[in-house]
Amino acid sequence: MIDRNRLAQLHQAEESRFVESHPRSAALAAEAREHLMAGVPMPWMTRWPGAFPIFFDTASGARFTDVDGLEYVDLCLGDTGAMTGHALPQVAAAITERATTGITTMLPSGDAVWVAGELARRFGLPSWQMAMTATDANRFVLRFARYLTGRPKVAVMDWCYHGTVDETFAILGKDGQTIARPGSMGPQVDVALTTAVVPFNDLGALDRRLAEGDIAALLMEPALTNIGIVLPEDGYLDAVREITRRHGVLWIIDETHTLCAGPGGATAAWGLDPDMLVVGKPIGGGVPVAAYGFSAEIAERLAEPLHRPEIDTAGVGGTLTGNALAIAAVRATLSSALREEDFAVAIPLAERFAEGVAGVIEKHRLPWHVQRLGCRAEYWFCPPPRNGADAADASDEELDAFMHLWAINRGILLTPFHNMALFSPHHTDADVDLHTQVFGEAVEALLG
Ligand code: PMP
Repeated sequence: MIDRNRLAQLHQAEESRFVESHPRSAALAAEAREHLMAGVPMPWMTRWPGAFPIFFDTASGARFTDVDGLEYVDLCLGDTGAMTGHALPQVAAAITERATTGITTMLPSGDAVWVAGELARRFGLPSWQMAMTATDANRFVLRFARYLTGRPKVAVMDWCYHGTVDETFAILGKDGQTIARPGSMGPQVDVALTTAVVPFNDLGALDRRLAEGDIAALLMEPALTNIGIVLPEDGYLDAVREITRRHGVLWIIDETHTLCAGPGGATAAWGLDPDMLVVGKPIGGGVPVAAYGFSAEIAERLAEPLHRPEIDTAGVGGTLTGNALAIAAVRATLSSALREEDFAVAIPLAERFAEGVAGVIEKHRLPWHVQRLGCRAEYWFCPPPRNGADAADASDEELDAFMHLWAINRGILLTPFHNMALFSPHHTDADVDLHTQVFGEAVEALLG
């Protein structure tokens, strides 16, 4: 449907426009290549479209300004880390206060008590611990799960993403075996030794695999978000709960992205009942921090081991974890953002985005599709996929890169890894309509 020569020509024109309009970013990128590996402080930053990444200067609410003075509507929001909107005044005040009164002591601060109570209220799990990142939190819950069950392996969904957690860099091979995810670098052991992989939305496969009796926990997002949004079919998650319970497998829900479904994530929105839950990214309003929760039963079983003298070298912790600055940031964030009233603004914006994009798709009779979960929406160049493998097969990196560069050149930032748009209460209808217009123009340019 898309003429690839035309796409290549259009892309080249967008590349030139990008380079011409970003001279300061170009200069910084050239300088950065001297001492920063790949010219960036973190490898993923090489994934931005354009000849070099945009260097950002300031960000506030739903917008940021780059070092060339250009302003953007931010639909990436730090790939969820800034889902609250940037630079919340309450968080800034709390961080400033903590920065001047002591950050790290390895002692608990009073804010931690409030934070755990609020997490319990939102997600329905009674007991909580903190981590620095969602990756850390996932690593920790997997350790607890193996410890509690005495079983060696974990199960994950095909094409999942849960951070840089070794056990999760696994996909299903052609014959149903566990193989390393393409591009996974330097795993310490063959991932087939640690991990079983099942397709999302496939209860039979899950039941059969868990019946083998070697799985400690199933770690999953309630809707896949990292290979694009793949929603659970009706009744799927209730059946996952029943199957995991029947096989003595702990069910861990990773709400780091699906927090977009509401103040207590999909767990609260859909009435889910996990044994453990992980949440990270936006809960600190941009400050690195994450949390993980336990059901009453799991908390009780872990109470004694957590008091053992060797707990500091047991494999769960982090010296700066639970520091007073991070916890103060969570308190300020959860008391001023990510609340019912915030989602009441952000979710209709995502609905408007989905309607706008769907309108363009229908107008041009494209076999494309837009999916939404809470305040997150995403378009696909195919009909809705049912699982991660379908989604991975449908990915079109050339077209993604073009759409992203086209949007950047017109003042809109999308998440680089897929076509995701995330909305905060600080976005406006006009921001959404700008995207719809820019998306429509891109499609018209492509179709010629
Ligand atoms: N869980 C999920 C569902 C994620 O999408 C991510 C990151 N994209 C993580 C965990 C890891 O978060 P972090 O990189 O902040 O550790």
